[in-house]
Order: sequence, then C-alpha cells, then structure tokens
Amino acid sequence: MNWYSKEKRDLPWRSTRNPYIIWLSEIILQQTRIAQGTPYYEKFIKTYPNVHALATASEQEVLKLWEGLGYYSRARNLHKAAKQVSEEYGGIFPNSYLELLKLKGIGPYTAAAIASICFHEKVPVVDGNVFRLISRLFDLQEDIGKGSTRKIFEKIIEEIMPSSTPGDFNQAMMEFGALVCTPRPQCDNCDLQFHCRAFKEKTQHLLPIKTKKIKIQARTLHYWIFTYHDKICLNKRTKGDIWEGLWDFYSTSTDLLNVASLDQNYIKKASYGPLNHKLTHQKIEAWFTQIEISNTPQLNEIAKILNLTIFNLDELVTLPKPKLIVNYLSQVKF
Ligand code: SF4
Repeated sequence: MNWYSKEKRDLPWRSTRNPYIIWLSEIILQQTRIAQGTPYYEKFIKTYPNVHALATASEQEVLKLWEGLGYYSRARNLHKAAKQVSEEYGGIFPNSYLELLKLKGIGPYTAAAIASICFHEKVPVVDGNVFRLISRLFDLQEDIGKGSTRKIFEKIIEEIMPSSTPGDFNQAMMEFGALVCTPRPQCDNCDLQFHCRAFKEKTQHLLPIKTKKIKIQARTLHYWIFTYHDKICLNKRTKGDIWEGLWDFYSTSTDLLNVASLDQNYIKKASYGPLNHKLTHQKIEAWFTQIEISNTPQLNEIAKILNLTIFNLDELVTLPKPKLIVNYLSQVKF
C-alpha cells in the first residue's frame, strides 16, 4: 500500500467513492485496456451523469455509445442493472457485496470492487492481475482456469488484507499486478521481492498456471447489402449469437444466394473482402456484396422475406453496429 500511494496511476475514477462511477469504470474496464476504456468512461459519464439518466436511455442509445468496445453483453447488462437500481432501489446502489451480486452483470469481481472501494467491506477482488501476483507471492500451483481456484485465492487475500482500508488494498493489488508483477515480471524493480516465494524458487515465469485454453472458432460471413437509391436493408442481430441488439446486413455462411429469385433485375454493384475480425471465441472472415435492387416494392418484398429493416443511408451512422461493420463502412461508399 506504501507503493500504491506513491505509484498509482492518476485515473479519473480514482478520486471518488461514488458507486455509480466505480461500477461504470469497472464494467468498462473488464477485458479492456485502460487506454482504450478511458474515452468510453468519459463519454458515458458525460452522457449519463447518474444512474437514473442511464436507466431512462434506450438500449439502442447505450449500445451506440458502447460501439467499438466489444463484449456487448456488458452494455446490455449495464443498462438492465441501471434500471434495477433506479426502479427497485430508488436510485441508490445496494451497499453490500451480497446485495450487489443481485444486479444484472455484476459478478463476484465487480461486487467485491464496489463493496470494498465504496462501502469499505472486507471482500477480496480477484482479477487476472491479482491471480498472477498471488500465485507468484505464494508460489501457488493451482490452476487459475478452474472455477474452484478463486475461493482458494480469496481465502489467502482475506487473511492478508486490512479491515480499515480494504478498497485501497484491493486497488493496490490490482495496480501492482498491472504495473510490476506483469506477465513478464519486473522482479529487479519489485518492493515485494524479499517476500516472494516464486522469486526465491525461480518459478515466477511459470506462474500463474492456466491450463484451460479458449477454443477459437473460424467463421465466414457473406454479407448481402440490398440497396435502392438512398435506402438500405439492415439486420438487427438477435439473441443466441454474437452482437445481440446491433445492426449488420443480411448474411449467409456460404457465398450461395440466388439473388435473381428475389429480384430478376438486380445489379451487383460491388464486392469487398475479405475483412478479418477477431473476437474472443471467433475469428471472422467477412465478404461483402452490394446489390442494387430494381425498385421500391421489390426492396420492401426482400426486407419482408429476409426479416430486414429498411433505413435511409444517412441513418446508418446513428445505429449501433459491430466494429466489423463500422470498419467496412469506413472503406466503402454507397
Ligand atoms: Fe512479482 Fe517478481 Fe515481485 Fe515476485 S518478485 S512479486 S514475481 S515482480
């Protein structure tokens, strides 16, 4: 904690104990680098300065503000939890770890962060940085990919954390893991070297143990972009697949689509691809074909058959879209 008081980064959410701000920053920074997440944090605080403002926004507005940050379930859950706090708790965040866990999208990590930082509850926060630091400090061989390992780590941290300042302690642990005990640890520059068992055993580069590898699925998307003059057909993505609630185009997994069966006088305007895009569990290769339909009734019919929605081209910019689609739109003109 001495190290933390001297070396912590000056981040906008570090100067407050307001649970709305802590919650927002924690959700935005999950699986996200600080440099990437900070502009989003600033946009959200400016647009929705309190939980009521966020709760009364539409999901589409929230998704639009989140556009480009990925893991969109975070944004949907953020919005749902804001509604819960606003409607069920009168706009006041629950002030205990167990109550916080009842909010949508708040798991043990976020609940512990809010409870300890805002309400001084003595609960350990275990994120990837803390797993790494504790594994090395105590030379632990437990597999951090296993769900049961979290409990072991929490127990150890509970024993070493002070009751008076649990929030600062948790933040110090995370910050130390992020800046000093990094994947390539900076042991020569480490205040904890004397206490570190992994350093003594020279096992620090082997820790933490993580055996579960994420399986990445290769996926090809063939996009068919139906337009007529300044009208365009878009697809709202549904539950059960990536990008729920965002807008893209009609897609197939192969390049086989008999457009003539939909409109015999269509014009194939342009093709583009491949555009590659990586998600945590999927590696996507996307191909795009622009099809100019011959008239408005035909376009309406296609939208009806393929369950698409027709927009004006200039509305595209206002809709929440996956980064892949934003990237594509930045490359082409209609
Ligand atoms: Fe991490 Fe090295 Fe410090 Fe141990 S000595 S805590 S491995 S940086």
